[in-house]
Amino acid sequence: MERGLISVDRWAEGSQAYFLTHLHADHTRGLTSAWSRGPLFCSRLSAKLLPSKFPGFDLSLLRVLDVGAWHSLSLLSPSSAADTLVRVMPLDAHHCPGAVMYLFSGHFGSLLYTGDFRWETTSEKANRSRDMLVKALNGSRVNALYLDNTYCNPSYSFPSRRDAAQQVVDIIASHPKHHVIIGIDTLGKEDLLVHIARVLKIKRVQHKGKESGKEHVRVVRAEASVEVNDLIDSTRKGRKCGTVGVSGVYMSRASASRRRRRGAKIMEDISAD
Ligand SMILES: [Zn+2]
Repeated sequence: MERGLISVDRWAEGSQAYFLTHLHADHTRGLTSAWSRGPLFCSRLSAKLLPSKFPGFDLSLLRVLDVGAWHSLSLLSPSSAADTLVRVMPLDAHHCPGAVMYLFSGHFGSLLYTGDFRWETTSEKANRSRDMLVKALNGSRVNALYLDNTYCNPSYSFPSRRDAAQQVVDIIASHPKHHVIIGIDTLGKEDLLVHIARVLKIKRVQHKGKESGKEHVRVVRAEASVEVNDLIDSTRKGRKCGTVGVSGVYMSRASASRRRRRGAKIMEDISAD
């Protein structure tokens, strides 16, 4: 694709349309609250989360794209200055809240930009996305693939997200007299927290607000992006910990390592804090 048309997770000037795959820091380098280089296209959930990462962001520059739908953009070809139509379809990347891949179609053919993704064969959600992609291609092939190959090496062998979540639940359940510390440093553990809350029937998350010094109660809801926002807030504002029901504590990684340095165990009763 020629330069000067679109950018994905790249925030230098010179493009007519900017696309965000997701809000992890390594994909937003160069993006700031003072962004004014052009329209920013992203998923509905990323648009909702973006202001908490970039307070004061000019929301009139946000363009929300629905997952699984084609969207058309009328742009100018940088080389010929002629109008050119670019179509784009976001697909759920199954990575963190709001994360999408982008399938582009235009005079350059079909281009798939994956960003970070986790299309496990055992995930219904990922399989739905894969079916969407096949349907969108309608028998044709992708002409250019921008593949994020993090952890693609066979030397990395991770359990599925479902298995990992079950392992965490098993650990918590087998230590009923302990508080369990889960470090949250960025977006991505929301599904795990919701899974823990659901399976262990924990309904409340209590946060200790550093700034106020008193506990804040957050309700964990499966569908709630409010919950996601709360988690981001608690991370961004440096809140250190919170209690899930009777046995869970959320704590920042920095705080956990400070405790480790003090010789404390990761699993411990901190109810006296
Ligand atoms: Zn990521």
